[in-house]
Amino acid sequence: METMSRGLSRRSFARILGTGLATAALAPTVGGAQEAQPGPRPVPAPVPAPGAMPVDDLVRLSANENPYGPSPAAFAAIQGAFGRACRYPDDELEALSEEIARSHGVNRNQVLLGAGSSEILKLAAAAFTAPGRAVVVAEPTFEAILRYATTAGAETVKVPLTADHRHDLTKMAAVRKAGLVYVCNPNNPTASITPKGEVRAFLKALPPTTAALVDEAYFHYAESPDYETVLPLIAEHPNLIVARTFSKIHGMAGLRCGYAVALKETVERLKAHQAYDSLNLMVLVAARASLGDAAHLEQSRLKNRDVRGRVCSALDGMGLRYIPSSANFLMIDLRREVKPVREALRAQKVDVGRVFPSMPNHLRVTVGTAEQMERFLAAFKQVMA
Ligand code: PLP
Repeated sequence: METMSRGLSRRSFARILGTGLATAALAPTVGGAQEAQPGPRPVPAPVPAPGAMPVDDLVRLSANENPYGPSPAAFAAIQGAFGRACRYPDDELEALSEEIARSHGVNRNQVLLGAGSSEILKLAAAAFTAPGRAVVVAEPTFEAILRYATTAGAETVKVPLTADHRHDLTKMAAVRKAGLVYVCNPNNPTASITPKGEVRAFLKALPPTTAALVDEAYFHYAESPDYETVLPLIAEHPNLIVARTFSKIHGMAGLRCGYAVALKETVERLKAHQAYDSLNLMVLVAARASLGDAAHLEQSRLKNRDVRGRVCSALDGMGLRYIPSSANFLMIDLRREVKPVREALRAQKVDVGRVFPSMPNHLRVTVGTAEQMERFLAAFKQVMA
């Protein structure tokens, strides 16, 4: 897949090189009198070491990221891979796919990597929805799949969550002419789970011509005995696709890697819609290193649980209710409109989750570090007073 250099004559190559040299010669010197010349933007200084993100000016609790960052092993792997940045990532793509397959006890050809699990959702919509082949989702849920299915010309069917925030899977399975049913478990934005027995019954009830996409982005945070991953059920259900991501507990949202596990034939249908090499070398080596650092993941999980518990106690003290959380975020019932509260928090440099139109009185807040949550609680108490 070498794509460089064809059509670039020696003379134009020399011209490009000459321009680069000229720009370098004109570049301002430190403390010098020259005005800034057009040229490359300065590259930010490298971060010396991984670890908890500093509490900077804006407390970002809006995207359910892991505030403790990636594993130090992932960081080292990225640094070690720089020298190979001129190469296409095929070998590393293979190595990570194999590692993921091994960890889940499936064949290599049952794994498809994506640029974040967002890419997997997009491929699923492209492969399984169309005019007359609707996408069925819970309301509210992670909305991305709706946009992708709409682009594919599909109708969107929203089935409200039950009163206790489970997916109403009986209703979802009964939608006729569905191409794809999306089940987010744990669900974003409610942080709630749909119990394993109900998911199993749903997979049995779903017509084999309808694909089920179970999004397990927050799998690692779920501790309820009523919760399970559906990965082991793939062999029984040829229409099942499981999506996972390195953006949440692995702390690599900015690097972009996710994956799907499904039967080989399903993976091939998804892959037909994918660009070649949509993942970069750095994320592939980082993800593989992160898989090998179970201790880091466990630390992130425990810290999240601890800080989340403390925030819950503070909310209890304020007399506020929240949905029991199986994830790294909380959905708080404000008993009043979220929008102005969100804006007031933002004015205090605390950024919380977007407004979900079907739950206009619920505030979604990501569980940050203890320090970040102190900042959140201080601002939140003031705003709510
Ligand atoms: N699925 C769920 C449930 C999410 O909450 C998110 C992001 O917040 C994603 C998928 C997309 O994550 P990414 O594309 O970073 O893997």
